[in-house]
Amino acid sequence: MLLEIKDLYVRYGNIEALHGVSLTVDKGEAVTLIGANGAGKTTTLNTITRVPPPEGPKVSGGDILYNGESLLDIEAHTIVQKYKIALAPEGRHIFGNLTVEENLQLATYARKDTEAIKADYKRVYDLFPRLVERKKQRSESLSGGEQQMLAVGRALMTGCDFLLLDEPSMGLAPLLMYDMFRALKKLNQQGMTILLIEQNARLALQFAHRGYVMDTGEIVAHGTAKELSENPDVKKAYLGG
Ligand code: ATP
Repeated sequence: MLLEIKDLYVRYGNIEALHGVSLTVDKGEAVTLIGANGAGKTTTLNTITRVPPPEGPKVSGGDILYNGESLLDIEAHTIVQKYKIALAPEGRHIFGNLTVEENLQLATYARKDTEAIKADYKRVYDLFPRLVERKKQRSESLSGGEQQMLAVGRALMTGCDFLLLDEPSMGLAPLLMYDMFRALKKLNQQGMTILLIEQNARLALQFAHRGYVMDTGEIVAHGTAKELSENPDVKKAYLGG
């Protein structure tokens, strides 16, 4: 097992946001975490990437193992640089006053593997050709969809081999949404392990091998994408009946 979250309890101050979450992701898998707003999906990703308090969640029980090693005492930058786990965050956490190229470049700051960096630029621009046309454009002037592509591109430029995605389809028109998922599928087929949060459960279950359903800080169902798609409760709550 590559990632193993075991009975994880997490708090923000006095509020407990995760109450004993367990999930696993195997090398090369695409796994999705679905659930309503406030269920604890973003908290789960931010706990894996060790976003520090006060903004980040504080672990009060359980463990996060990566290749059998606990990540709990590891700092956020080490998670990216040594463990090669990167998060493409929700919304538009890109630097609006920098160009597309500068945003991508910034993500490589700690890397010295020049050839691999070159290959990663190529990969990002192959996956998202729109970013090539907009290399020199300030990121704040990109469309919402292009900004999402850039957020994913930036995560890839860290040289990660495990990608955490927080709602990559957020705000995208349907055509761009399918483009995004096509790109993610390609990445996964190239060997990238993916853990994806997605509001659009239908799309997420078409993309992923397996999924977990979260509700108010707990995992309430899990299974293969097919099993979840056919689960009556999941259908009713997340797939529109
Ligand atoms: P969404 O789809 O709306 O992003 P989510 O499933 O990702 O929802 P989280 O953002 O993880 O849910 O939130 C889980 C719970 O933790 C919610 O009750 C939320 O209000 C709370 N929470 C999240 N971030 C913080 C924070 N920085 N400080 C305090 N409480 C927080």
